[in-house]
Amino acid sequence: MTVTDIQAILRSMTLLEKAALCIGASFWTTTSIDRVRVPTISITDGPNGVRKRLHDNVIISQSLPATCFPTASCLASTWDRELMYVMGRALAEEAIAQNVDVLLGPAVNMKRSPLCGRNFEYYSEDPYLAGEMAASLINGIQDKGVGTSLKHFAANNQEFKRYTISSEIDERTLREIYLPAFEMAVKKAKPWAVMCAYNQFNGTPCSENRKLLKEILKDEWNFDGLVMSDWGAVQNRVRALIAGLDLEMPGPRPRNVRTVIEAVRSGELDEATLDQSVLRILSVIFKATQRSKGGEFNVEDHHALASRIASEGMVLLKNNGILPLKDHNRFAIIGLSAKQSRLQGGGSSLVNPTRISVPFEELQQLAPNALFTYSDGYSFEDFHRQELVDEAVRQARSAEVAIIFLALPPSSESEGYDRSNIDLPDQQVTLIQSVSFVQPNTIVVINNGAPVEMSKWIDSAAAVLEAWLMGQGGGKAIAEILFGRTNPSGKLAETFPLKLSDTPAYLDWHGEDNVVRYGEGLFIGYRYYDAKETPVLFPFGHGLSYTSFTYSNPQTSSTVFKDTEGIDVSVDITNNGKLVGKEIVQFYVHDQKSSLTRPFKELKGFAKVRLQPGETSTVLAHLDFRSFAYYDPSYKRWVAENGDFDILIGSSSVDIRCKKTVTLASGFDEQRVLSRNSTIREWIEDPGSRVASDPMFRMVIEKIQTMLGSEENGRQSVVKDAMNSVLDTPIYMVLNSLEGSMTVAAEEVMTYLLEKIK
Ligand code: BGC
Repeated sequence: MTVTDIQAILRSMTLLEKAALCIGASFWTTTSIDRVRVPTISITDGPNGVRKRLHDNVIISQSLPATCFPTASCLASTWDRELMYVMGRALAEEAIAQNVDVLLGPAVNMKRSPLCGRNFEYYSEDPYLAGEMAASLINGIQDKGVGTSLKHFAANNQEFKRYTISSEIDERTLREIYLPAFEMAVKKAKPWAVMCAYNQFNGTPCSENRKLLKEILKDEWNFDGLVMSDWGAVQNRVRALIAGLDLEMPGPRPRNVRTVIEAVRSGELDEATLDQSVLRILSVIFKATQRSKGGEFNVEDHHALASRIASEGMVLLKNNGILPLKDHNRFAIIGLSAKQSRLQGGGSSLVNPTRISVPFEELQQLAPNALFTYSDGYSFEDFHRQELVDEAVRQARSAEVAIIFLALPPSSESEGYDRSNIDLPDQQVTLIQSVSFVQPNTIVVINNGAPVEMSKWIDSAAAVLEAWLMGQGGGKAIAEILFGRTNPSGKLAETFPLKLSDTPAYLDWHGEDNVVRYGEGLFIGYRYYDAKETPVLFPFGHGLSYTSFTYSNPQTSSTVFKDTEGIDVSVDITNNGKLVGKEIVQFYVHDQKSSLTRPFKELKGFAKVRLQPGETSTVLAHLDFRSFAYYDPSYKRWVAENGDFDILIGSSSVDIRCKKTVTLASGFDEQRVLSRNSTIREWIEDPGSRVASDPMFRMVIEKIQTMLGSEENGRQSVVKDAMNSVLDTPIYMVLNSLEGSMTVAAEEVMTYLLEKIK
């Protein structure tokens, strides 16, 4: 179906048909318009597995079995773009088999605080990492002809009051932190749809936010898909259409169809605006019809893939050398989650898994001759059961190794509400303290979608494996990592703080009076810990391996470069150990001098490389204009300033192994926007030097000097202090105070200077 064909359909549609098409027919389908042969398409969650409901007209109904892949926290920790692409293709195969046309996901909201209830569904605290991973997943899905709906656009970083709260964010923070993951995914992968968030952004509901939906997403980023609402997010259908929200979900809502018709008739809504939305919806519908539907997917292959992804995303946080397990034969397996696998979080992303690999069984399979005992250790109910701890201690004492499976209770990580703390339940803390007291070889495996505090027990654990909400293949991945069949290679996509009160959004969380201010601005995640020099439990980018890597020979394609071309960076990585392994190499950019405050460093490139023992490989990254730029709100544009930048190449955000300094020589010579409120210093330091040699401006500077008097007779410091204070005074005030000593009126000088800098 060509654009011309689609336009012809649009022209033949009645107003009623157009208004009807812009609202869903059911919870999970769009409206078909049979007269003009527009079919319905089927939409379904979700981000880590297809959740095709058995019934279209109810929100909560059982879903068809589908592969439950690891949740986004785990996916992001793989740092593996290709793997995300492969997972995308598998998701698409399942969607096709279940007649699903558009998958609701991925979700790329930033992890502003570890408390957000949906953090397990989100990728990272870093926009670049989140954007890269999501773009690969989308490409994988869409290359097979299934659409995606990137969500939740935008500034949806908490569940508390998610339907109404206004996220108040300054322009620069919005552009540099909260939008880039969306922007990258839109530009690199062209999702068929974007889902607007429930919340308000700076006082306007996202569903009615013209700035977000129309000006930024559609006009600036050239997004050509459709914008759909989150489920039930539309408050005013007409305002939403005018703002750029094309498809209201779910439906049916006949009253809203009538409202749209009346609005067109009364002139409140321009029919051309409605037509634009109809065109976007028709384009997506007809894209979906190009693909064949139905069929089967390979359940076993996808289960194995889920397991592979889990093993790439699990992060070995600590290891005193006990892992991989070699010479032990008696294992005490402790903890409910060893038998009741924790696969996923609660809410709309919940998948009905096709298989479940259970850690306890997988461990037994890998060591058939070893002796395993099992005890629950805790229950997920909220009361202390000392007898479970006592039994675990008894078994741990008579084993050679205790492996404790800890997990956040299922009720604590879900859509719709946030966590109130980052603690593990008390019983689990007591369990690990008691077990490790009698058994020094205590290994902790932990299932959670977001960081937990570990300070009360981490020192007594011999090793800690972060296994995340690991999807249906996670049990096997754990066993293979513990027994060394897989060398762990995941790294954290978010910082693990020492305690909740250390976290960037702590003071502003989670808002009051229906407003949440993002007071920490640009400084979320490692950007904050860097700036505050706050120690953390595990830094962003951290993850251990059973082998070790050296970094050498860092190179850049040149030392001086142009912003339009960017620069290539490379480094040699060598595997010095005895095992094959993978290293995730991270490239951060540090701006040595900037007109605006910047985070100390920001991730701008990464690569995952697999190396045999002794092997060396060169890892490359291309750093483009945006790698060096910040968003300048005065100019409403991205700015890369001339000057020196350090490229920091590291194994984590705090383990920087090499540095190269490069000079940007063709960037923007920042001319500050000068006004009557700008200080004398800002006028003098204007890098454009627009008035520096102007006789009128020089006269003003001389008058200031005369006013302050000479530096003779030991007055140097007094004059210096006075000069400093004048320099930091707005020019209009200084001119007013000089008026008596000038032949021209202060206001005239002001007008003249403002004219000069235009
Ligand atoms: C969630 C979305 C989800 C939709 C449909 C909403 O409540 O916020 O992420 O895709 O429901 O289930």
